Amino acid sequence: MKITGIEITQHRFVFAGAPFRASWDTRPRTHWDATIVRVTTDEGLTGIGSGDLMLGFSGHEHLFVGWDPLAIERHYRVLSHLNFHYGRCWPLDLALWDLAGKIAGQPCWKLLGGLSGRVRAYASSGTLRDPGAMAEVAERYLGQGFGAMKIRFQRGRWRDDIEALEAVRARVGERLTLMVDCNQGWRMPWDTQAPWSLKDAIQVARELERLGVYWMEEPLHRGDREGMRRLRDAVDVRIAGGEMTRELHEFRELITGGCLDVLQPDVALVGGITGLRRVAYMAQEHNLIFTPHSWTNGIGVMANAQLTAAVADAPWLEFPFDPPEWDLDRRDYMLAEPVRVDADGWIVLPEAPGMGLVLDEAMLGRTRIG
Ligand SMILES: [Mg+2]
Repeated sequence: MKITGIEITQHRFVFAGAPFRASWDTRPRTHWDATIVRVTTDEGLTGIGSGDLMLGFSGHEHLFVGWDPLAIERHYRVLSHLNFHYGRCWPLDLALWDLAGKIAGQPCWKLLGGLSGRVRAYASSGTLRDPGAMAEVAERYLGQGFGAMKIRFQRGRWRDDIEALEAVRARVGERLTLMVDCNQGWRMPWDTQAPWSLKDAIQVARELERLGVYWMEEPLHRGDREGMRRLRDAVDVRIAGGEMTRELHEFRELITGGCLDVLQPDVALVGGITGLRRVAYMAQEHNLIFTPHSWTNGIGVMANAQLTAAVADAPWLEFPFDPPEWDLDRRDYMLAEPVRVDADGWIVLPEAPGMGLVLDEAMLGRTRIG
């Protein structure tokens, strides 16, 4: 079998209702863009991927066309070089794994190791609400079967964030595992406020310990490895990060430097399944938690779930979900069926070949912008 083409289309779903005010972005979001990658073959099978914008890929199609689609390690090396010279084109790796599953007639999670056919999701909220409303959201997650919830800390004064967390803990007690994302690791291009210092982070961490938080995510700038190491030594709450870390050697250094307890790369944004499988193994070797960031769309959530279930003993996987502003009809508009959790909060992996996803072609036609 040979790759005959790589088709990349851009889509924009414009929200009819309220904008989504993501805590990590000062600009309210009124639409959700998706890049869809399709790898076609001379035997009629097509693999699909999504996640990043595939910037810099144009003009490099010939590096893949004509090759056996199953030469995935070879394709991964080319994608790594494109990542170095141009942009992050990892959705192509997802499409190649989807295709590999379709060629083999097996779901990706079985090809990748088959450790488990399911992974437990945590509800990842994205909106900053007042303490009472946060408690309501937590109660709703419980009713929907979730066993864990992630709360954002971006209200300007971290003591206000603690108040929201306290309200949630008071409402749900020990019925929900709680994580906190401080979002200090990176900024949107137009957001220029400085990240926390180590002393800020230590004060917040002590509050999180008091409130029994499971992990503290991105408490410092992504490059402040010494700060992360010292924070990790100073407090008991797990320190999480790495959602936009671009290079495998950076993960190696984060691990050997003792910076993190929880590694959170995202197959749709960095490394693809082929690259992050290595990080999952690294995490296992060092007795750390591997639990991907997954804030893209349903294709990205599914790809992360396929890898995580296959090889990692992850306690939780991120499930972006914060209705009404971030509901499945917005997040997964490109899919015929959104990626859901079951009544107990698990993502049950499909038995269908590849990723087991079906695109909503009519919706993709209506939302196409490039
Ligand atoms: Mg995060």
